[in-house]
Amino acid sequence: MKWEDNVRRVVPYVPGEQPKGGRIVKLNTNECPYPPSPKVMDALRKVEQDSLRLYPDPEVGALRAQLAKYYGVKTEQVFVGVGSDDVIANAFLTFFNGKKPILFPDITYSFYDVWAELFGIAYERIPLTEDFHIDPKDYAKENGGIIFPNPNAPTGIAESLQVVEEILMANTDVVVMVDEAYVDFGGESALSFLEKYENLLVIQTFSKSRAMAGMRIGYAIGSEKMISYLNDVKFSFNSYTMNKTSIDMGVACVQDDVYFKEIVSKVVATRERVKKELAKLDFSFTDSMSNFIFATHKSVSAKEIFEACKKEQIFVRYFKKPRIDNYLRISVGTEEEMDILLDFLKEFLKNR
Ligand code: PMP
Repeated sequence: MKWEDNVRRVVPYVPGEQPKGGRIVKLNTNECPYPPSPKVMDALRKVEQDSLRLYPDPEVGALRAQLAKYYGVKTEQVFVGVGSDDVIANAFLTFFNGKKPILFPDITYSFYDVWAELFGIAYERIPLTEDFHIDPKDYAKENGGIIFPNPNAPTGIAESLQVVEEILMANTDVVVMVDEAYVDFGGESALSFLEKYENLLVIQTFSKSRAMAGMRIGYAIGSEKMISYLNDVKFSFNSYTMNKTSIDMGVACVQDDVYFKEIVSKVVATRERVKKELAKLDFSFTDSMSNFIFATHKSVSAKEIFEACKKEQIFVRYFKKPRIDNYLRISVGTEEEMDILLDFLKEFLKNR
C-alpha cells in the first residue's frame, strides 16, 4: 500500500510478560515483591475530584522539590517523567543530537538501541570484558554521547565510582548518562560527581526499590543547564506527562525513607540467601548488586530451565542474545516465592 511508504517502521522493545491468573510466581520484570509504603496508599485514598478534573502541574513542582531535598540538590536540577523509560527517551532526544555514534555496552538494557533506532541516532555497542565488566578505556574514543546502567542489566554487575569517573574524565565534551535503575540494591551512585561534571545525567526510578512500577515514575538529576534543555524538549512534546495522583504518591513515597530502606534491605538479604542456595544447585552467577540474579547452570541450558519454570507458572527472564543465551535473569521475590522456585529447581534438576 502506498501510504505505508511514509510509515516510521521500528522494531519495538519487548517487555517481560505480565501473566494473568491464579498462582503465579512472577520473577521476570524486576518489580519489588513488597507493597509500596502505607503512606503512599494514604496519599491514594486522599485523591480528590479536582485531581482528576484539572490538569496536573506541568512543572511537577512538588515531586521535584521532594526529590531535590532528598538528594541535596536544587529543584531545578531534577527532571521527572513517566518511568525512567520516558526520562531516558526524552534524554536521548535532547542530548544525543550529534553526528558521531553514541556508545553503550553490548550487553545492557535492550531499550537503548530501540530508542537510538527510533530517533535515528547512530550508535556503537562496546563489548563488555569476558567477565561482563565495563572497561573505561573502551569509552575513551570519539563519540556522540554515552549511556550505561550501573549496576548493569541484565548482568547485575556494579562498577566502582572509579570506573564511572574514568569514563567521565575522558568524555567532558559529550553527555554521559548513568542509568541507576538498580543502584539502591548495592551500587554506588554517581550523584556525587554532579558538582564536578556539568555533562553528567543520573537517571533513577520508582519502579524497583520504591515498589511503584505501576505508577510510572522516573527521574533524572543533572546540572541546571541540562535539566532546562531536557524540559524544553519535554514541553515541546507533552507538557502534562505526570498525573496528579502519581505526583502525590511519589511525594509520599520519598517522605517515608524508613520504609524504603526496610524493603530494600529485605530484597538484598533474600538475594544473598538465594545466591547461596543456587550455588548448591550448581548454578553460577555474577555478583549481582541489583534486585535480580543473573545465573547460568553447569549442565542444563538456560532455555530448558526457563521453559520448565514457565510450565510451573514460575516466570523468569531469558534473553536469546549473543553471549548471554545460557543465562537466566531471576528477579528477587519474597522469601516464599524464592522457596517455590528453589524447591522446583531442586526437583527438576534431580529428575530430568
Ligand atoms: N533502565 C533499566 C536498566 C531497566 O532495567 C529498566 C526496567 N525495565 C528501566 C530503565 C526502565 O524502568 P522504568 O521505566 O520502569 O523506570
